[in-house]
Amino acid sequence: MKRIFVTGALGQIGSELVDKLRNLYGEDNVLSTDIREPNDMSGPFEILDVSDGKKMYELAKQFNADTFIHLAALLSATAEKNPLFAWNLNMGGLMNALEVSRELNLQFFTPSSIGAFGPTTPKDNTPQDTLQRPTTMYGVNKVAGELLCDYYNVRYGLDTRSVRFPGLISYVTPPGGGTTDYAVDIYYKAIENGQYTSYIAEGTYMDMMYMPDALQAVVDLMEADGSKLKHRNAFNISAMSFEPAQIAREIKKHIPTFEMSYDVDPVRQKIADSWPNSIDSSAAIEEWGFKAEYDLEKMTVDMLEKLNQKLIKG
Ligand code: NAD
Repeated sequence: MKRIFVTGALGQIGSELVDKLRNLYGEDNVLSTDIREPNDMSGPFEILDVSDGKKMYELAKQFNADTFIHLAALLSATAEKNPLFAWNLNMGGLMNALEVSRELNLQFFTPSSIGAFGPTTPKDNTPQDTLQRPTTMYGVNKVAGELLCDYYNVRYGLDTRSVRFPGLISYVTPPGGGTTDYAVDIYYKAIENGQYTSYIAEGTYMDMMYMPDALQAVVDLMEADGSKLKHRNAFNISAMSFEPAQIAREIKKHIPTFEMSYDVDPVRQKIADSWPNSIDSSAAIEEWGFKAEYDLEKMTVDMLEKLNQKLIKG
């Protein structure tokens, strides 16, 4: 990766990934693009709606890109509110990004998700290769996306790579409408109000990861020796699996007065129930050395410290 083109770069992942890539490869070597203007402008930025394939091609060519990181998408809970719009954005944007990458011969990365699994997938230690029959529009998009990326690799020799991200937790940019957002929100509310009402029911386990590990995984996978990759699209990766009461207990260790209650949202609960309890990351570990530094305990210490600085001390 030397000249990196990023779509949806102002979102939860992109806002931090662009900074990391600029630190590693140089500020001017990463072009950030999004459909909206950034709050503060640092480094190269262009407005780009990913449904505009012509502009995407022109910007990537002008920038002399060698790598394409496609992040623009509608996430699971938001996609359920407007499935047709989600299909058009998620599949149309991906198709444009793959076509631009094929025409310019760019290394390609786009994230899949644990949402690519469904209720008939084995729930515990979910294998890398297994049944994928998701029941959400987001999941349908992610499975189709994984297959499309494999197709471009097999058919055109495009260097496509991807991971199935679990819920990502970060103190920098708020999440964009996923089912696992509660695991970010809970830290904000613990500090601001001392209490949290969870829309996910007690006992609902989902895979999660702290953002620094997710960003490192993208870099490690993109830098990995391609000849060692058997899977490409898309690797299971997870750092931890927990249910709401466990994260609440961990927060209570630092804020003893913290209280959590439940007011379950049936839409997001149904999505959560269709996803695995915990996935098996062994293919990513074996093929490109995936590792995670943060477990629930270590992440909670860091989240509370960083959010305290952000929210209380300004
Ligand atoms: P996000 O919702 O925080 O950010 C998406 C960005 O895309 C936003 O900045 C938005 O302005 C932009 N966007 C929306 N429509 C656009 C369009 N038409 N053209 C260009 N940009 C547009 O999402 P995120 O959490 O950063 O997720 C990025 C990718 O990672 C997605 O593919 C998502 O499915 C995947 N993923 C995320 C998570 C997670 O927990 N955050 C987990 C699994 C997979």
